[in-house]
Amino acid sequence: MSIATTSNVRTALVIGGGIAGPVVAAALLKAGIQATVYEAYPTLTEGIGGGLALAPNGLAALSVIGADDAVRALATPAAGTVMAVGGNTRRLPNLADVEPLQIVGRGDLHRVLHDRAVEAGVRFEYGKRLVAADEDPNSVTGRFEDGSTASADVLVGADGVRSTVRTLIDPQAPAAGYTGLLGFQGYLDASPDLDPEPGVMTFAFGKRAYYLFWKMADGRVTWGANLPSKKYMSLTDARAIRAEQWLRTLRETYAGDLPGELLAYRTTAENLDITGAIHIMPPVPHWHRGRMVLVGDAVHAPSNSTGQGASLAIESSIQLARCLRDLPDATSAFNAYEQLRRERVERITKRGARTNSAKTPGPVGRKAMQVLMPVFFKVMNFEKVMGWEQRYRIDWDAPVEVGTSVG
Ligand SMILES: Cc1cc2nc3c(=O)[nH]c(=O)nc-3n(C[C@H](O)[C@H](O)[C@H](O)COP(=O)(O)OP(=O)(O)OC[C@H]3O[C@@H](n4cnc5c(N)ncnc54)[C@H](O)[C@@H]3O)c2cc1C
Repeated sequence: MSIATTSNVRTALVIGGGIAGPVVAAALLKAGIQATVYEAYPTLTEGIGGGLALAPNGLAALSVIGADDAVRALATPAAGTVMAVGGNTRRLPNLADVEPLQIVGRGDLHRVLHDRAVEAGVRFEYGKRLVAADEDPNSVTGRFEDGSTASADVLVGADGVRSTVRTLIDPQAPAAGYTGLLGFQGYLDASPDLDPEPGVMTFAFGKRAYYLFWKMADGRVTWGANLPSKKYMSLTDARAIRAEQWLRTLRETYAGDLPGELLAYRTTAENLDITGAIHIMPPVPHWHRGRMVLVGDAVHAPSNSTGQGASLAIESSIQLARCLRDLPDATSAFNAYEQLRRERVERITKRGARTNSAKTPGPVGRKAMQVLMPVFFKVMNFEKVMGWEQRYRIDWDAPVEVGTSVG
């Protein structure tokens, strides 16, 4: 149900057309606020590879803009998850009555979200890199690298973990932290000795590095490598090194791990996506200032270890639109939005930081993990640990009130 806004905010510039951008723009439109998305890349899918898993809470939030079924139609459900430490594997319990994770290609996800937003009436402009913004009492103006400008009542920074809007809001804002891990994703054909159970995602702690793998609907195997590296490398730095050279490093790193070494040996250079440094955001002191506000990785990138980055970005987008719909002005809406979101995203980010440390444990830590894993699974209450994350639901129709803590 679309609800007319009671706010004096009527128009929004949304900076970034990744995941949060199209979702917040479509949700703003549903709330009666006209939104235009400005994306730095020249086209919709350029440079986008790999896949990600959307959690049930993320899919539920997507249902507010009617994009959940289109995503499910393109996704592979991961009905089961397995943890592997050395030779020990354990199946993780599923939460009762909660749908499985949905694994979707990043390019597919971007396309679905873009198409849904366009259908809702959102306009996209590509090749628009925001470089500055000025505010006056009545509006905010975004300035783009190509010299053009655009003005609106508010500006939403959905511009990812290396956000420009974050530093426009607060020049002292922390930069994204580096997890000490570089990301890669590879694809290969299944074979008799490498044929994961369909619908099962395995998280594997190898001798030297962590990796994960699963079988896709088309029968191929996808794997993700988290390579420990003291040296920080941006996406551009990492892609400046040839894929063949990265494959040599990955093969050395996963030698002796099963099936890690098979995955590394059988991936070809053409089938390796290089992601670069994996980031995690420290708490951001100022989520908003004046007419500008942050959403998604720009303010709360919890790192890939949580499997929640995209889902949290979607949830925050919906909550921001809800707040702008119901509260009288930008300041009260941004305050309520931060109040609804900060605790949840920071708690999940802390879980991500703990998992990141476990991904690079050293030989003693690894041995301890092997010994402790069976005990850990015996005593772990999966519902208590994961239930609150995955069962989170947003009631779009419920009005947001100042000082509210309703989800
Ligand atoms: C290796 C890896 C695996 C991951 N796996 C998962 C997973 O399984 N599940 C999950 O939920 N999450 C996962 N994530 C995290 C997830 O990708 C992010 O949380 C999600 O992409 C955040 O969406 P966003 O829209 O906030 O940012 P982004 O997707 O980064 O989009 C930001 C957009 O803003 C644009 N932009 C940047 N600067 C400007 C500017 N100045 N002007 C205009 N446009 C700009 C960018 O080009 C980009 O299109 C993973 C991340 C990595 C690195």
